[in-house]
Amino acid sequence: MLGTLVTEGFQLTGDPKQAEVVIVNTCGFIEEAKQESINTILEHGHLKKSGTCRVLIAAGCLAQRYQGDLLKELPELDGVVGTGEFGKIAEICRELLAPKKRHKRLWISQPPYLYDELAPRLRLGKQHSAYVKIAEGCNRNCTFCAIPLMRGKQRSRPVESIVAEARQLAAEGVKEINLISQDTINYGVDLGLRQGLVSLLRDLVKVDGLRWIRPFYLYPQQVTDDLLDLYAGEEKIVKYIDMPLQHINDRVLARMHRLGNRTAIESLVDRIRSRIPGVTFRTAFIVGFPGETDAAFTELRTYVEQAEFDRVAVFVYSDEDDTSAAELGDKVEQDIMDDRRNSILSVQEAIAASKGRAKIGSVLDVLIDGRSEETEGVLEGRHEGLAPEIDGVVYIDEDSVDAGCKTSDPASGDFCRVEITDAAGFDLVGRIMTTTAH
Ligand code: SF4
Repeated sequence: MLGTLVTEGFQLTGDPKQAEVVIVNTCGFIEEAKQESINTILEHGHLKKSGTCRVLIAAGCLAQRYQGDLLKELPELDGVVGTGEFGKIAEICRELLAPKKRHKRLWISQPPYLYDELAPRLRLGKQHSAYVKIAEGCNRNCTFCAIPLMRGKQRSRPVESIVAEARQLAAEGVKEINLISQDTINYGVDLGLRQGLVSLLRDLVKVDGLRWIRPFYLYPQQVTDDLLDLYAGEEKIVKYIDMPLQHINDRVLARMHRLGNRTAIESLVDRIRSRIPGVTFRTAFIVGFPGETDAAFTELRTYVEQAEFDRVAVFVYSDEDDTSAAELGDKVEQDIMDDRRNSILSVQEAIAASKGRAKIGSVLDVLIDGRSEETEGVLEGRHEGLAPEIDGVVYIDEDSVDAGCKTSDPASGDFCRVEITDAAGFDLVGRIMTTTAH
């Protein structure tokens, strides 16, 4: 949307108070995200009275899911733009800004928009790290999940389109690409590709200039040895597996309509760890799924203790409209769900702290993200086991730059060899040994 708007002559501002058009890009995934989206719309609705805002738009998944209901419930909205209409955003803004009497307020279509390498793109944030969407939609049927309702069946971008975009990004100085979709392990099945992700990665590693390629959201099925061997053998593919497991109890997994069971999950985790030495494993679980008994939860917590994942995200179950889990009985009370979430998080906090301490003394390649916004004189970076935005960071005292690295000051996007000197929570502290040219 940003790329289209700028190409069509709109000016961007980071200050909503100065904007004539405010677009809230919403999420409709779970209750917490929906509430955050609605609060953001309400917050920005005030700008129509106090600021320069003339047009307030809700775009994205919540818009796609609730369509006209959103307009009825939130009268401050001028337009609702679903996930199929992103490409028309400039046209929509012009229409809503036009002085004539407005008729149309709802832009919804199917299937959801999927960009290609020719779409104008404007990236905010780190210029050396980019997200690349490789597919849209999901063919699976997890009973708790509304994503297929909002994003439709899976549609993958052709390999050539993704590689062309990766080349453009590398030419702009991007060093790290993060591959995203709803079901990355299934990439390409709709194009008739066998092992589509393997083919894609084999082509992406040939793109000059890229240093890290990081696929996200691997479903714990169809993980072939070819894929794991590629991870292990290709320097550019980060040794980082992001695989939401959702639960470990067989009955809960079956009620979630997840493929596989505890035995299959355990053997897959073992296989990944043995085939990719030193891999960082990130996963996510849902607590409080309908019918999750005390015993099923205890089984999950014990598993988290024993499996010692590097990172664990925990979501509290919420009934989502039109999902089959919402119809299930044996709902778990909210305070019990919250306690269960906190319990797993505290188990994981101790594991993460011990894993952080174990890194002290090691020397790692770190991608410098820039100066810390919180602490003066400190740089922030990440080693390959730290994904942008969701994991911790490595803090580096800028003074160590002069002491350790005579060649040049590391700038954002540089890779440095960093010795880890301390660990704090999910973060590490280190000093630069050398800057490497990449
Ligand atoms: S695989 Fe992921 S996106 Fe697809 S239905 Fe399951 S949870 Fe939702």
